[in-house]
Amino acid sequence: FLKLSESLAKTKEQIARRIDGLLGSHKVMDAAFWEEFEEILIMADLGYEPTAKLLEILKDRVRKSGETDPARFREILREELSAIFTPQKTIRAVNPPEVVMIIGVNGVGKTTTIAKLAHRASLQGKKVLIAAGDTFRAAAIDQLKIWADRVGAIFYAKGENADPAAVAYEAMDRAIAEGCDIMFLDTAGRLHTKANLMEELKKIKRVLGKKHPGAPHRCVLVLDATTGQNALSQTKLFNEAVDLDEIILTKLDGTAKGGVIVGIALEYGLPITFIGLGEKMEDLRPFSGQDFALALLT
Ligand code: GDP
Repeated sequence: FLKLSESLAKTKEQIARRIDGLLGSHKVMDAAFWEEFEEILIMADLGYEPTAKLLEILKDRVRKSGETDPARFREILREELSAIFTPQKTIRAVNPPEVVMIIGVNGVGKTTTIAKLAHRASLQGKKVLIAAGDTFRAAAIDQLKIWADRVGAIFYAKGENADPAAVAYEAMDRAIAEGCDIMFLDTAGRLHTKANLMEELKKIKRVLGKKHPGAPHRCVLVLDATTGQNALSQTKLFNEAVDLDEIILTKLDGTAKGGVIVGIALEYGLPITFIGLGEKMEDLRPFSGQDFALALLT
């Protein structure tokens, strides 16, 4: 919790400190109060629509309780944020190997996140395979191989420019043959050929599903918190193409734009499973909405 709280220092500066100011300067939760609060949310990178939604939730709660004293506001906000971050998880029957497809724009931290997830799974005693589905960048394949060796995972790749769906298919074969518990599949993130990329991801998903029942069991979008509003538009784009199951948000440490996580949860209702608080293996942490709301507001 301490690490989370420290990592959120700049985001807190954006949100908690401004809320302190808001509560200090208003005697009642009236129109002027809400207007100033709205401004805080917009400045904190929540996005317009999520801001409107959150305001509606809070105003409704306040209206129903008849509470007008701002002294209770922080507590109300913390409770509502915790609730937003706790969507019902879809629990699916998994026929091993569990297949996790990792999606995201280049540079968001996809490769290192795969390494961190693989490391976690290894520590849990699972047999892990990492597959290099980003065949667009040779460097991405090399980098992933280094990580796979480091975390003790089996690695599967074909050459640069190989068909990513073929890589996925063959990697699946290998994971089954080796008796792996889990397979992480890296995918390309070249947004400059957006339409092609979305078609490629859909094809990979189809091929995996045909090869292994239920696969991919999880489609995970990795987002970079420092990109603020871009993270919201990336969620929309990828969710429309491949139906995401969950979100991992990296680089929450040192950014003032952590508020975007609230926007993503509100707008898409997708569970945030892990957050990145640094570059080290252990800096990928399971996300707890309650802890996050508490760390953010205190
Ligand atoms: P990819 O292009 O999406 O595969 O991105 P990489 O995995 O290569 O990561 C890009 C950079 O972001 C690397 O220098 C990582 O160490 C760094 N990075 C990834 N996650 C985090 C995080 O949670 N916090 C910080 N500070 N850096 C991160």
